[in-house]
This record gives sequence, structure tokens and C-alpha cells, in this order.
Amino acid sequence: MNSLPGQMMQMPLLISSLITHAARHSGDTEIVSKRVEGDLHRYTWSEAELRSRKLAQALVKLGCQTGDRVGTLAWNGYRHLEIYYGTSGNGLICHTVNPRLFPQQITWIINDAADRVLCFDLNLLPLVEKIAADCKTVEHFVLLGGRSQMPAQTTIPNLLCYEELVEAENGDMVWPTFDENTASGICYTSGTTGDPKGAVYSHRSTVLHSYAAAMPDAMNINSRDVVLPVVPMFHVNAWGIPYAAAMVGCKLVFPGPHLDGKSLYELFEAEQVTFSAGVPTVWLGLLTHMQTHRLKFSSFRCTVIGGAACPPSMIDTLEDDYGVEVVHAWGMTELSPLGTLSRLRAKHLGLPKEDQRRLLAKQGKAIFGIDMRIVDGAGTALPWDGSVSGDLQVQGHWVVNTYFGISGSPLQDGWFPTGDVATIDANGFMQITDRSKDVIKSGGEWISSIALENLAVGHPAVHQAAVISVAHPQWGERPLLTVVLKPGASATREELLAFYAGKIPNWQIPNDVIFLPELPHTATGKIQKLKLREAFRNHQWSQP
Ligand code: AMP
Repeated sequence: MNSLPGQMMQMPLLISSLITHAARHSGDTEIVSKRVEGDLHRYTWSEAELRSRKLAQALVKLGCQTGDRVGTLAWNGYRHLEIYYGTSGNGLICHTVNPRLFPQQITWIINDAADRVLCFDLNLLPLVEKIAADCKTVEHFVLLGGRSQMPAQTTIPNLLCYEELVEAENGDMVWPTFDENTASGICYTSGTTGDPKGAVYSHRSTVLHSYAAAMPDAMNINSRDVVLPVVPMFHVNAWGIPYAAAMVGCKLVFPGPHLDGKSLYELFEAEQVTFSAGVPTVWLGLLTHMQTHRLKFSSFRCTVIGGAACPPSMIDTLEDDYGVEVVHAWGMTELSPLGTLSRLRAKHLGLPKEDQRRLLAKQGKAIFGIDMRIVDGAGTALPWDGSVSGDLQVQGHWVVNTYFGISGSPLQDGWFPTGDVATIDANGFMQITDRSKDVIKSGGEWISSIALENLAVGHPAVHQAAVISVAHPQWGERPLLTVVLKPGASATREELLAFYAGKIPNWQIPNDVIFLPELPHTATGKIQKLKLREAFRNHQWSQP
């Protein structure tokens, strides 16, 4: 067969094109950042683009070459944004590191990625002083601040000042053109099983992910939005928002490290934020603040909630009490991260509200660019009937093929095994029932810990809940409910267990309740069930 080549321009999908577009077509649109010091910094996309070019020049002067990794330990802010573009745009690799990890994990990740430069925020100076000597590959440490913020004394060798580096350049460079499959960024998985693994994104995967993220059935953001990513820029690139925002040319608002309910609420109101995204725990803090002070939003219209299961009661509160549309999303570091989002189809619009909410509480439908399936232990595809659960596998333009520095591929039969267990219904709505390592198997039957947690947080006295599997002499395993009560609220074990009655089959109701002052969380805000399982491994059931 004689194929006819397409006759379109060949333009590689490069990250630099996103910020060039924002600067040319929305150049005066603002980027507002709450700095570590607490003040607000304001500038525009065109200034961000110019300073990204200056940073690119400065990094070349420091000796950085194509493919070199530049690490960041930083909160959401304009300088971090400049590093995103100033590195990738010039062929370097932006490696965001989570400052909330243990110092040994941070050094392990920095050494594994062989970062040559490490840029960090002012309040992380003590952390970097602690780890600097162990970061064997880092040649330059850069403090993200001005001359007046540089410490008089530090143990960090040759500490550089970010503002001085940027100010010394003239921006007289043109973003280079290269292969769109070149690596652009690295994020490490949280490493709850074994060492963390680096997912290496490409320019192509990142730009395609941005298109998908902005689409109406995904985040649905446009140039009129004011977007505040609560999700950190070190958690899978703030779910792609810094790229998608440039693509649509919207105003961006960065909260810095100030993620408590009061600070967030004040920033949402002052900057008239319309769209946000984050894990369920941050919304708990914001809602508690708003409920305590009887506050309302004046501009906030929609938020994406993901990274961990969003309890249906949180969707009800945000939608019914605050008029904020909630889009429940599922994704992973290995998926850049977006995989599915929950939005109704046309045929669901006439359904009663409760039925619509049941659908919206699921993790949702695959967006174009991602395909998914559930399989049994033998790898056989399972039906989409909403009740059979299996191992969730995905394929797509922004799914990892291999991990950084690890030989062999994690793929099975061309599919990436997510480690999640899920159902998919006839409408294509996927629902996560568990991480495969968190499943509860009682008397040969699966019980979804997420379903039990979602019900528990619907109880008026419960602030947070986690259900874990604990060995049981008769049933093999049984669910144990651990809860944190709301401040000033009270509830007994019997009341909480009775709350399940009639909502799920009796045999799925947890056998016991443990009241805790707080739940252990990972550095990205997920409940650490491993820790809970270890703590309650020998739990004595109060009733058989
Ligand atoms: P990470 O790569 O650290 O973002 O973690 C990805 C994992 O978080 C997924 O494999 C899921 O286990 C979990 N996760 C992400 N989003 C959701 C969600 N909406 N509901 C339940 N679990 C989720």
C-alpha cells in the first residue's frame, strides 16, 4: 500500500510552547503567589516567560547540559513555575522532590536521580543544611530568594542566590527545538512498597496531558478562570495544572506553604478563585474553618478532588452547602497523573439527585488518551457490570513504560498494572474499592475498605476514618474501623457501628472501632494504612 504522508507542519510538542503561548496571547494575565514570608507577589505570564528564559541562561552558566536533572524542594509559587519552564524548556529535566518526606528518603531520591542542581525554598534551609553533605551529585545549591534572604552563615557549600542568578541574565535566548520524546521531568512514586521509583515524563506526554486536563469533561478550565492549585507542585506536577493553565492562559494563584483553612479561604476570596484541585484532607481543613466561622465562597465554582477517595459526604457538603461543583478524579504518579474523572453523561441528567451523586462519588470515566480494564489474577479481562472487581490496568499517551534507572518494564501484556482494585460499570464509571495491598478478605468475600470509610465519615461526629484489615480467627480477616472525631464531638463504638445498619450488608460492618487523636498521613496527604495495620496487627476483637 502506498501511504500518503500527511501534509501538515511538523511541530514537536514542547513544554516551552506552552509558556510562549501564554506570554504571547495572555501576556498580561496575572500569576499571584503567596510567598513563604507571607506577602503576595504579583506578576504576569509574560514576565514569568522572560524570567524562565533568564533562568535557563543561568543554568547553562552553571554548567548544566541537555538531560541534566535540576531538583526542587519547593512549595507552590512563581519561582517554582519558572524552574518548571526554565529547565524543561531548555532540554533539562525538572525533578520535583517532596519536602515532607523523611530526610533519608529525600537524599535517596536526589542521589538516584543524580540531580546536579538543587533549588529550595527559604523555610527549607534547615532541611537542606541537614542533607546537603549526603547529596553526592549536587554541585550547586540555590536558595529561592533574594540577596537579603541569604543566611549570614550556613553549612551549605557555595550557596547561590536565585534572584542574583536570574537578574544577571538578559533573557536573550530562544527556546530550542528538539525531539518531543525528550525527557522533561521526573517524579518519584511514594514508595510505600520498596524504594521510590522515578516516572520520567516527556515533552510529548506532558503537552498531551495538558490538553486532556483542560478539556470540558476533565478539569474544564479556560482563560476566564482563576486557578489555585492546592495540590503541591511536587505531587505529580500539581496534577498538570502549571502546564494546562499556560495552555488556556488563565490567572494562576499559588498558596505557598500556607495550606491551613484560614489562609486558603482568605486567598480564595481575595483573588476571586474559581477553580482548584487537591486531596480530600486539605478540603477537610478548609471546610472546618468555614463551618466554624459561618463563611461562604463568593467566586469558587469547581474543584477536582483526588489522590485518595473523596468521601460522598464531602461532595454533598461542598455542593449543597457551598455551591462548589466537585469532580472526583483518580490518577497516579505513573499517569502524569490523570486517568479518570467523574462527570455525568447526558443520559444521567434526568436521574434523581441521589442517583447522580452515587455516580459522581465514583472515580469516573477514562479521559481520551487513557484506556482501562479490570482483570482477574490470570490476566483475563472482567466484565463492566459495576459489581465484579479486579486489578485495574491502564494504557495511554501519558502512562509510564519503564521507570528511571530500572531495567525491565512493569507492563503486563502491554498494560500498566496500577495496584488498585476496581469495578467498572456499564456506563464506563470506574470505582476504586481498594489498593490491592489494602483489601479485606473476610470468609472468602471481599469487603471494600473505601466503602466503609465513606460511610463512617458521613456520621456527624466523625472527622476522618480509615478501615484496615486485621486477622480474625474465624473469618481470616475482618474490618477494623479507626476514627478521629471532630473537635468537641462524641460518639461511642456502638453508635458508630449502628450507623452502618441498613446501609451495607450486615456481614460487612466492621467488628470494632478504635478512636485515635489523629491518623498517620503520607507526605502527599494520604492515610498510611500500613502504619495502622502495623499498630493494630494484634488487635483483640471485643466480640467474635
Ligand atoms: P500517587 O502516585 O502517590 O498519586 O498515588 C496513586 C494512588 O493513589 C492510586 O494508585 C490510588 O491508590 C490512590 N488514588 C488516587 N486517586 C484516588 C481516588 N480518587 N480514589 C481512591 N484512590 C485514589
